[in-house]
Amino acid sequence: MIIGGLPWERILDQARELADCGGAPVPASAGGLADLAVSGPAEILAVSREKTAQSGSIVLSSGGTTGPPKITFVEYGQALDRLHEQWRPLSPDSVFLNTFTPGRMWASHYYMQALAEHSRCRVVPSGPLDPEELPYWLDAFAELGVDSVAGTPGGLVELAQGLLDSGRTLPVRTVVWMAEPWTEVAEKTVRAAFPEAGFWGNYGAVETYVIATNTPHCDLRVLHLMPDQIIETDDEGALLSRAGSGWTVPVVRYRLGDRLAPAECPCGRPDGLRVVNRADDAFKLQGSLLAAGELLDLATSLPGVWEAQLELAREADHWHGARRMTVHFTGPAEPEEVRRQLLAGSARLYSIAVHHPEALTTARAGRLARIERTGKVPAVVWRDPS
Ligand SMILES: [Zn+2]
Repeated sequence: MIIGGLPWERILDQARELADCGGAPVPASAGGLADLAVSGPAEILAVSREKTAQSGSIVLSSGGTTGPPKITFVEYGQALDRLHEQWRPLSPDSVFLNTFTPGRMWASHYYMQALAEHSRCRVVPSGPLDPEELPYWLDAFAELGVDSVAGTPGGLVELAQGLLDSGRTLPVRTVVWMAEPWTEVAEKTVRAAFPEAGFWGNYGAVETYVIATNTPHCDLRVLHLMPDQIIETDDEGALLSRAGSGWTVPVVRYRLGDRLAPAECPCGRPDGLRVVNRADDAFKLQGSLLAAGELLDLATSLPGVWEAQLELAREADHWHGARRMTVHFTGPAEPEEVRRQLLAGSARLYSIAVHHPEALTTARAGRLARIERTGKVPAVVWRDPS
């Protein structure tokens, strides 16, 4: 299935241009998308390096925590001209708190700085704040007039909870979010702390920058593909092609890490998409194949479970195999009851537990594990055999 629309001739021109600067060769007989090679991190690296050879660039990376880094060269300006034509969450009178983690070659913090600069507003590059240090900062943010915040849903929820716990408020009108899906509880908490705020979302990747956006008029979980792009949905990860100038990097059939699906949006605009799950979330528990996304959907649908995360004890010499799984969750549910309901809700998990009852445990957590580099809550945490 295809999301968006782009004439074949423009895609073909783009593919030929890419072939001249490190992309895959284009067969002379190419007559449709399926004739063009699927591209990956190697093409992004080669093409983005070549394209920014004259302009200078910021060298950024995705991955590097659980796999090798995927490097991309991003031209200064970070494609804000094109983005701003259709998505303007800030105005010159905004005071914008940027809670994305700086450094470590992660894009989000620098992208938000560029967004603020392009919007000619004031920006406060705080980075993420630990719950313990929040009370020291909240009065300062209020005094500065912070009325807009940017962060991952997981980071925003901690800021929101800190405000609610302290009885303070910030007159936030704009919430800019990306890099993680929303859980129901995270959405409720952030809306409770910032009842006047509109939510402005981005979907993309460090390698591609922004692919899709939404506004306060949209379903929070539906984003609209930006013009001059198409997405081919695919079980192994959606494929992105784009044409025209002004992107951080041109791509043809670039394999994203997520499964995407077309979606309608109450705002009425076209080319809506929904992030279904990670494409690479399959793993084996005691030799049986499971999908992390499905298990987490099941866990978070249970009463008293707010968020959930899988901890897998890796089998020696087996990259995607685990002997034991612990489902960590936040919320008031009883761990034994969560375990019982997980087994009732997943036939596959039930049959594993019949033979290996020790393979599944459940545990309540005050806070789920985070990736230090980005502050994101990963679906799966692997532990190496000790
Ligand atoms: Zn919409």
